[in-house]
Amino acid sequence: MADQKLRILAFGAHADDLELQCAGTLARWANAGHYLVMATATWCKFGSYELSLDECSRLRHAEAAQSAALIGAEYKALMFPDDGVNPYDSEQQQQVVELIRQTRPDVIVTHAPTDYHTDHTNVNELVKWTGPVLGIPQYVTESEALNYTPALYFMDTINGRHFEPTDYVDISDTIEIKLKMMDCFQSQIGFLTRYFDFDVLEQIETVARYRGIQAGVRYAEAFQRYGGAGWGNLTIHYLP
Ligand SMILES: [Zn+2]
Repeated sequence: MADQKLRILAFGAHADDLELQCAGTLARWANAGHYLVMATATWCKFGSYELSLDECSRLRHAEAAQSAALIGAEYKALMFPDDGVNPYDSEQQQQVVELIRQTRPDVIVTHAPTDYHTDHTNVNELVKWTGPVLGIPQYVTESEALNYTPALYFMDTINGRHFEPTDYVDISDTIEIKLKMMDCFQSQIGFLTRYFDFDVLEQIETVARYRGIQAGVRYAEAFQRYGGAGWGNLTIHYLP
């Protein structure tokens, strides 16, 4: 994978999910010259004790765009309702198919089916739903149907629970940039600390160290390849 220039789509439910769960790997891919799109499914209106819903949404997407810019990734947002991601909604299905077709990714990274938030697990379901139609021209969206099958990977769950990795990526050299990307979310760091009663930057470091011990490196991120029919088999196993 290191020698080929690839297109990668990382798709999370909320602004900051990708930073928490796979940004060390995204930074590593960016350093290798791969083309990256970081996309968020929802409005992100919830996530503040002080701001109005619209102010919160605007700020969180601005923070996500700032974080993506740190590694030269493009940022996109689909604006599905918060707590309303619905894998059976034909409009949402259509928009996710179009996102994938316009990005034309070799690799898609999204949430695991065992993650903690229903928006996360529903994004997982939505992406899996697209598999059988991405290459079907009769399922019409603005961009052309794919003529290949992208590989699909699930990123680690928020704290590594209920997740059996198939692939690890050594992020020892990119954990600093991962923490800087998370640090762009000043609106969320205080909120998450108060809401979940833990330090989110400490949580990132602890999970990366825990996955690093499993992988035999200092810091790592864990992934699970989805082997369902209709998805490619490109490996992202990426250790020294
Ligand atoms: Zn989330």
